[in-house]
Amino acid sequence: MPIRSRAAVIREQNGVFDVLDVEVEDPRQDEIRVKMVAAGMCHSDLHLVTGDSALPHLPMIAGHEGTGIVEAVGPNTIGWEVGDKVVFSWIPTCGECRWCNSGMSNLCTYGRYILLGARFDDESFRFTLEDGSQAGQMCALGTFSEYTLVSTKSAIKLPADADLDTLWLLGCGVGTGWGSAVYAAETQPGDVVIVMGVGGIGINAVQGAKHAGATSILAVDPIEFKREMALQMGATHAFATMTEAAEFALTLTDWQGADRAIVTVGVVSGSHVAEAVKAIRKGGVAVLTGIAPDSEDSIPISPLEFTRYQKRIQGTIYGHANPRADIPRQMRMYQAGQLKLDELITTTYTLDDINQGYQDLLDGKNIRGRILFH
Ligand SMILES: [Zn+2]
Ligand SMILES: [Zn+2]
Repeated sequence: MPIRSRAAVIREQNGVFDVLDVEVEDPRQDEIRVKMVAAGMCHSDLHLVTGDSALPHLPMIAGHEGTGIVEAVGPNTIGWEVGDKVVFSWIPTCGECRWCNSGMSNLCTYGRYILLGARFDDESFRFTLEDGSQAGQMCALGTFSEYTLVSTKSAIKLPADADLDTLWLLGCGVGTGWGSAVYAAETQPGDVVIVMGVGGIGINAVQGAKHAGATSILAVDPIEFKREMALQMGATHAFATMTEAAEFALTLTDWQGADRAIVTVGVVSGSHVAEAVKAIRKGGVAVLTGIAPDSEDSIPISPLEFTRYQKRIQGTIYGHANPRADIPRQMRMYQAGQLKLDELITTTYTLDDINQGYQDLLDGKNIRGRILFH
């Protein structure tokens, strides 16, 4: 039987989430319906609701970080049972495509469906609004809903003792930031690393740079609360501007420049990327993680920086993560006290408070906001 749920829906790209009654279908084969426990409030949903990122289909059930408990399992769906604990990966991983088999499952072929938010085979939708319209699911997930229905390609089973109130963080923000420093930037022991923007992604790039052995981690953010947070989470220095951080990196490196600079600004412009490239040494890496609006189409930097100084800009999606390997790894690091997660959760909201939560994000009050459904 289809069930009813309350969900935060993007009906128009006008900056507001509407909390509405919706209907969720029954699971088909290789689908699970999940009673949500917690969901994370990532900036990417805001990019959709404001129109920074174009959407191929509206309406859309918002939310792409979450944990929950399996409430119904589709027929002939191997490996899943009612009552299983689950964390979602914002990129599906099929295990069969070229990318999944090359250690690049963050580039899985099925990623092309995440903004449409439909089923991966017949492109049908799993949610229906009261006006009869069919709703997509952000990242094929739709975690801002009491119940959601997803493909098992998007789901990673957790052990029975997993802390669902916290581990939703591993499905997007932590993996993206941590992997940006560890995998995409290839941070080495002894490095000087600049992290540009310490919101929910950048703070985890700080943690990743620390785990990879960086000696100096220079966090940059105009907001004092975020600079203080970065210092608590492993940054060795914090600056309000990139100019100050870049100058300080020069003093640490005999005037060579930082080994890596990671761009984790909330709304990226070409000039942010140019600042990062200028701050790195010869042969250094600037990693571009943050999301730029669709309208941004150039980076104001001389091509000579790349030939003459052998610099590199490395783009990354999901921090080069392989979620089925990285999420269990990061869960063990959390349980061992190596990876800080509880400290990242600034404020907890109800589903009805979602617009206030995103206003707090815009006002710089949150590292990560959380919606609890219980
Ligand atoms: Zn996200
Ligand atoms: Zn794949």
